[in-house]
Amino acid sequence: MIRMVLALLFAGSLAACQVAPRVTPESSSNAPEPEHVHVPPTPVAALAVDSEVRPTPAEEGVDAPEAELVTAEPPPKVALLEEPIRIKRASFRVVDPPEVIVSRQHADDETTHVVHYRVIVEEGLEGEATELTRTIDVVLNHSDGWRKAGYAFKQVEDDEDITILLANPKTVDSLCLPMQTGGVLSCAARRRAHLNYRRWTQGAKTWGSEVKGYRSYLINHEVGHLLGMPHMKCPGTGAPAPVMLPQTKYLDGCAPNGLPTTSERGILKRWKSRRADRWKKP
Ligand SMILES: [Zn+2]
Repeated sequence: MIRMVLALLFAGSLAACQVAPRVTPESSSNAPEPEHVHVPPTPVAALAVDSEVRPTPAEEGVDAPEAELVTAEPPPKVALLEEPIRIKRASFRVVDPPEVIVSRQHADDETTHVVHYRVIVEEGLEGEATELTRTIDVVLNHSDGWRKAGYAFKQVEDDEDITILLANPKTVDSLCLPMQTGGVLSCAARRRAHLNYRRWTQGAKTWGSEVKGYRSYLINHEVGHLLGMPHMKCPGTGAPAPVMLPQTKYLDGCAPNGLPTTSERGILKRWKSRRADRWKKP
C-alpha cells in the first residue's frame, strides 16, 4: 500500500515537471496509426446529454403518455452574440451563456476554483452551438470529472479564463501552429481548447461508433491540458484509458474512457494546490 502511494506521488511530481507547455499537441501527424485492438468501449450512459435521449418511433405513438412527450422536447437553442470575433483569419460567434442548462452546482467551498470558460463556434458551424454548449456543461461539471480535483466551471461571454472553440479542420491547423494537427487532430494552446469539427462529428477509430463518449474524452483531454495536465500512459491492458492518453491516436491496450481517472484527478489536485495563483488575473 505504502509503495502504491509513493508510486502515485512520484507520478504526480513527474507530471508536474512536464506541465504547462505553451502548446500541447495531441499528437504529431506522422505518428503511427493505432493498432486495431478491439476493446469494448467503457459504458458512457453517465455522460449522456439529456437532449440526445430521444424517443423511439414506438414511443412516439398516439398512445404515449403526455408526460413522455413533454420530456422528449428538444432543449431550447442557445443564442449567439451578434458581434463576431476574429482569431487570426477565422471568424467566430460567441455563445450567450444560457440561463439554465444541465448543471449549475458550482461548489462554494474555498478549495474550489471556478474556471470561467467561453464557448465560441466558427462561422458556418452555428448549428452545433446548442449541442456543443450542453455537452461541455455536462462534461466539465460531471461529478467524476475535473471537478473532483477542486475545479468548477462556469460559462461566460467575456472576461474568460479559457476558451473552448469548435472549428473546421483547416482553422484548427492554423490556430494550433506550430503544432501539426494535420486536419484530423484537436489541440490546446494559448488558453484555448480547439475542438476539430471532424472529430466532433465523427469521433475516432479508437472509439468506434461511440461519438458521444468520444466527445467527453475530447473536452476533458483538451481542457485538462489547459489546467496543466500532461499526457499520461496506459497503466495496463484492459484498464480504463487515462483521459490524458491521446486516445484519438491510440489506446495502448486500454479501454476507451471519457472521464479523468482517480489517479489523474489526484495529480491535478496536487498540481493545483502548488499553483494556487495560476488563475489570478493581472
Ligand atoms: Zn493531448
